[in-house]
Amino acid sequence: MSLEFRHIAHAYGNTRALKDISFTAPQGEITCLLGSSGCGKSTLLNLTAGLLPVQQGSVYIDGELLADESHSPPPEKRPVGLVFQDGALFPHMTIAQNVAFGLPKSRNSSDVIEEWLDLVGLAGLGGRYPHELSGGQQQRAALARAMAPEPQVLLMDEPFASVDIVLRKSLRRDCRALLRQRGATVIMVTHDPEEALDIGDRIAVMDRGRIAQFGTPHELYDTPSSARVGAIFGGAQVIAGERVEGGIATAFGTWPLSALVGDAPDSLNLELLLRADGFEVTSAHEGHGLVVRDIRRTSARAQIVLANDGGEELAIELASGDAPAIGERVTVQPRAASVLAFATAPTAD
Ligand code: ADP
Repeated sequence: MSLEFRHIAHAYGNTRALKDISFTAPQGEITCLLGSSGCGKSTLLNLTAGLLPVQQGSVYIDGELLADESHSPPPEKRPVGLVFQDGALFPHMTIAQNVAFGLPKSRNSSDVIEEWLDLVGLAGLGGRYPHELSGGQQQRAALARAMAPEPQVLLMDEPFASVDIVLRKSLRRDCRALLRQRGATVIMVTHDPEEALDIGDRIAVMDRGRIAQFGTPHELYDTPSSARVGAIFGGAQVIAGERVEGGIATAFGTWPLSALVGDAPDSLNLELLLRADGFEVTSAHEGHGLVVRDIRRTSARAQIVLANDGGEELAIELASGDAPAIGERVTVQPRAASVLAFATAPTAD
C-alpha cells in the first residue's frame, strides 16, 4: 500500500507547521522524514494517524482517500500502526498482553503472539512486564505490538531515539530486515542523517515545514537540490562565492570555474558545497594564502583547519603524508569538478 500526501498544509495559530507537502511513500519501502526539530515531522505523522485533523490537502492510501478536510476517520478506524519514541507500552500489561492489544479476536492466540515475539527477538519474554525489559527490548515489544495487526502503513516517530547508541545500530538493522520481510510501507521520523541513510529506501528532507528534497539516499548524496540539503549528508561545508572574471571569488581564494561540477548557475551570488577531501594545497609565501591552524590525524588521513586573515575557517582533509605543518601558510584549491554550486537561496519563504 502506498501512502500519498497531496498539498498538505497545517497551522497552529500563527505558526505554519506544514506548507504544501506532496510526496508518495511507495509500497513496501521505508521512507524517512528527516529534518531538525520543529520542521513539522510529528505534525505530518499525527495527521496521518488521525491524532490531528487535516486542515488543508489530502492523504491517500493506495489511491483511496484516507483523510482530508471533510473526511477524518478516528485513529482506530485507520489501517495505520504507530510506534513512538519511548515505546509507550501499557505498563500494567505483560508484553504478551501488549502485543495482543489491537489484534482481532480471530488472530488473538498465544501462537500468533509468540510468533511476533520471536520475530522481534523476544521469544519467551511474553510474561514479563515492560519495566522488566531493557530500553531496547521495550522498543522491540512496541514494534511487535504495532506490526502484529498487520497495518497497511506503519508510522514510526524516532523509534530508536531512546535506545543507547551501541544497541541502536543492531536494533535498526533487525528492524529493517523485519519490515522488509513483511513488506511493510513505513514512514519513519528521524533527525539523524546517518540513520536516514542507513535505514531509508527514500528520504524526504524537511526544512521549515516544506519538503526540501525527496529521493533515494544515493540521489540526495550525489545530487542534492540545494547547498543546505548537501550539507546535511557527508559532512560537507557551505561557503559563499561570487562569480568574477575568470573564476569564483571566495573568502579562501579565487578558484577556476573548472572546480565546479557541471556549469556554474546563472547567478552572481553562489552557495558552494565543498567536500573536505576535495582539495589540494601548495605552500604560500608569508603574508599570502591561509594559515594552518589545527591538524588532527587518524591513521592515514589528516583533518586540517585552515584560516584566512579574517579568522574564517575552512576544514579540509588530506592524506596524512601530504599534510602541512601547523602555522605554515598554504594556498588551497579544489580539485576539478569537486564543488557543487547553487544560486544563493532567497531567505523569504
Ligand atoms: P518536529 O516533529 O519536526 O520537531 P513538529 O511537527 O512537532 O516538528 O512542530 C512543527 C512546528 O509546529 C514547530 O514550530 C512547533 O513549535 C509547532 N507546534 C507543534 N505542535 C504544536 C502545538 N500543539 N501547538 C502549537 N504549536 C505547535
